[in-house]
Amino acid sequence: MLVGRSRKKAPIPLPRSYFVRVKCPKCGNEQTIFSHASRVVRCLVCDEVLAEPTGGKARIHAPIMAVYGKLAE
Ligand SMILES: [Zn+2]
Repeated sequence: MLVGRSRKKAPIPLPRSYFVRVKCPKCGNEQTIFSHASRVVRCLVCDEVLAEPTGGKARIHAPIMAVYGKLAE
């Protein structure tokens, strides 16, 4: 009998969240922030606002350098 995961895509109950590495437009500091941040994310160095919550995916104000943990498929 067949046991194991099928390749069929199952609905995922969790929101599509991931982490992004951003570069502060003001001071150049790089830090990692959550894609669905529920509160304002500020630069750890200069306090510039890097992302603000929108109720879902955060609005990111800084250039994105890399993305982590995002489902490739
Ligand atoms: Zn900064």
